[in-house]
Amino acid sequence: MPKSQFVCQTCGFKSFKWMGRCTECGAWESFAEEAEAPKAVKGRRPKGTGAQAVAFNAAAAQGASPLLLPA
Ligand SMILES: [Zn+2]
Repeated sequence: MPKSQFVCQTCGFKSFKWMGRCTECGAWESFAEEAEAPKAVKGRRPKGTGAQAVAFNAAAAQGASPLLLPA
């Protein structure tokens, strides 16, 4: 089960439980849930979504049709 934590969007304070008010900066309801430790994702990446997906997104960002890319 993936662990997550809550990060204050105002000051960046992190807490493992949601808090209605940030104890650091005093902002109300400023916490947003974020997945913890990106390293946990390592080894779970599905096949075919690495470089290919990046190339597709890059081509799309440049306005090129992905259909014109060499296979
Ligand atoms: Zn805060």
